[in-house]
This record gives sequence, structure tokens and C-alpha cells, in this order.
Amino acid sequence: MPGFEAFGEEERKHVNDVLDSGVLMRYGFDGMRNGHWKAKEFETAFAQRMQVEHCQLVSSGTSALTVALASAGVGAGDEVIMPVFTFVASFESIMMLGAVPVLVDIDDTLTLDPAAVEAAITDKTRCVMPVHMCGSMADLDALQAICDKHDLILLEDACQAIGGTYKGKPLGSYGDLGCFSFDFVKTITCGEGGAVITNNKQYAVHADQYQDHGHDHVGKDRGAETHPALGYNFRISELHAAVGLGQLSKFDHFLAKQKEHYTIMRNALEQVSGVTFRRVPDGGEENYSFLNFFLPSIELTQKAHKTLSEAGVDACFYWYTNNWHYINGWEHLRDLKALGNVPSEIRNQIQDLNATDFSASDAWMGRTISSLVKIGWSSEDVHERATKMAEVISEVLKKEYSL
Ligand SMILES: *Cc1c(COP(=O)(O)O)cnc(C)c1O
Repeated sequence: MPGFEAFGEEERKHVNDVLDSGVLMRYGFDGMRNGHWKAKEFETAFAQRMQVEHCQLVSSGTSALTVALASAGVGAGDEVIMPVFTFVASFESIMMLGAVPVLVDIDDTLTLDPAAVEAAITDKTRCVMPVHMCGSMADLDALQAICDKHDLILLEDACQAIGGTYKGKPLGSYGDLGCFSFDFVKTITCGEGGAVITNNKQYAVHADQYQDHGHDHVGKDRGAETHPALGYNFRISELHAAVGLGQLSKFDHFLAKQKEHYTIMRNALEQVSGVTFRRVPDGGEENYSFLNFFLPSIELTQKAHKTLSEAGVDACFYWYTNNWHYINGWEHLRDLKALGNVPSEIRNQIQDLNATDFSASDAWMGRTISSLVKIGWSSEDVHERATKMAEVISEVLKKEYSL
């Protein structure tokens, strides 16, 4: 996920436009801004690229999720179904609204298992939030069918799979709402930033208002605006939006490079018996930001991960023991450790995460290694890396099998 690998002239030009006028805010100051509206320009271009009607830029991917949920009317005591393999932002964004995260198993797609989702539905469920982890997507048709049947909102977290597609549609545009992150390690970056996309006019109006204190954005005098509902400040600055515009102009080039490098590594690993790959749902195309594969057992996977790192193959992740991305590392959530009181809806309704059985997810996560795909690698670098990965992994598997 390489935005930071390719920072250059394009970003500098847009940032300088903003610095030249000194208008660092996305709203107002019409006369001073030399005609530059970077946040608005980004929103128009991004909505078009994602083939949707509306885009709302915000300050981060985490705030995008909160804004999306709030826009759809999710509030205190509502349940939102999310996967156990994701980033901490998923439950943070839900709990920020007093809503209750309901954690369920993943399957061999490394995203929500539709059967686990269906089993978790109660009369309080309002939303299903698939997270398209590490470049590939959840089984969106199956999830949409469940949402239709139970009248639920489908909110895609596409923060790690921007540019991937499902049945011809960009990820994030399939559900009722889609969210993206432009933090520093995502495929395109603003430094910090995020976006909500939707084709729902009502959600778009709510998102626009909610992320700016509930301001209605009618007329030219901010002080005279009314507040149809309570909001918050999740605004992006013009400087961050300017960086994003530079990155957006190179987005398709980034995706093509990722695919090229992914394919070289994948071809090498396909030759190693014992290596299998994460399932991509029918009709889906990854964004190729990671190559994700399974080894035959937890022990072998841990050994291979260690050996890869000792052999100098960097940026291979073992999420199973990573504190950011899997339930095992979220003691603060499991024990509800907060600085102050946790809303009573959450305290009363949340499942006992220390006692819930996630062994179905452990069985996939314990055997998963994810290699980051960088675009800065030369063709020589990637080939060398691919060969080394295949050698190291065959060696580990061979040794174990012969014992
Ligand atoms: C990065 C990320 C987020 C949060 O984005 P920030 O911009 O860092 O707040 C949310 N979900 C997923 C899956 C992410 O990878």
C-alpha cells in the first residue's frame, strides 16, 4: 500500500496552490482562495472514479466509518456486525456512537463469513460492516441478500482494498455506504484523511452536515447556518485534500504496479506445494495491495514467518499475533478498558469477548501470512524477493514433512 512511496511533484503542485493563498480550510474565504477548492475537487473526482453519486471527505478512515454510521441513523444501542479480523477502527467507530459492535468469524476469504453474520442477527441489528482486508473483498452478494432479508444497512470498509472491484463495481460502491482511508500507509494517502461514498442522497446530506458540527451548508455565511441535527468536527483540511489530489492522479498507475508485483510473487509461490491462497469471491478482483497465503498448520506458519524475516524478506505480516488487527491482541476491547464510563448500552449488550469461541477464525488466521506489495520495488527486487520467499517456504515445509 504505497502512497508514501510515490510522493512527488503532483502533490507539491496542489499543496503549493493552497500555501500560495493561505486558505487552509475547505469552507468559506471565497475571495482569498484563488479559485482553489481542493477538498471539493477531490470529492468530485473520487465520486467519479468510484462510480457513485456522492463523496464526503473527512479527517480519517476511522472518522469516515463513524460519519457513515451516523449518516444512516445508527445510534446508541444499535448493533453493528463486524469481523474479528480487521483494524481497531471498526469497533472504535461503532462505539463512538454508543452503538454495539458484534464480532463474528471470518472464513477463507479472510473477511466476514456470511453464515456467521446471519447467526448473529438480533432485533437490535442495524448494520453489517464487511471489512475488505488486505486487498480483497467479502462475499458481497451473500451479505447483500442477508441485509435485504433483514432490512439492514450494508457498509463496506474498503480502506485496504481501494481500487479492487466486485462484479464490475469498485469496492465501496456496492453497499449502501463505503469508506476509505487516506492515512500514510494506504494505497493513496493525504497524510491523514478518509472518505465516505454513497448513492443515497439522504445519507450524503447527513454526512456533509454531521462531519461539520451539523452545519446545513446553506448560504455563504457560516455563522448564519442552522443545525438540523447534532454533529461533530471530522473535517479534512485543504492541505490534506491537496496531497490527496496529487495522489489520485497516480492511482491507476499504483494499481497497475501492485498487480505486476503481486503476480510475480504469486507465480513463484504457486510452485510450492503446501501453499494455498486466500479465496477471492466469484466476480471479485483484488487491488493487489497484499499477497495473502495459507500454510498447512499454525506451527509451520509461525516457523515460516520467522524464517522469512531472518532471511531478510521484510514486510511479511503474521496477523494472528499482531496487536492491531486480530481479536487476540485487543485486550482493551475484551475487557472494556476505557478512560471514563462506557455507555450503558455497550456495557449491557456487548458479548463476552473473552468467552466467545472464535476457533473458526483462529484456524484461518493462524495459517495466514500476508506479504505487503510495494510499488517502489524494481523488477529485479521483486523477482529476487519472490524466489527467496519460495525457497524459504519450501525449505520449512520440506523439513517438517520429513520429520
Ligand atoms: C486504515 C484503516 C482504517 C482507519 O483509517 P485511518 O485513516 O487510519 O483512521 C479503517 N479500517 C481499515 C480496514 C483500515 O485499514
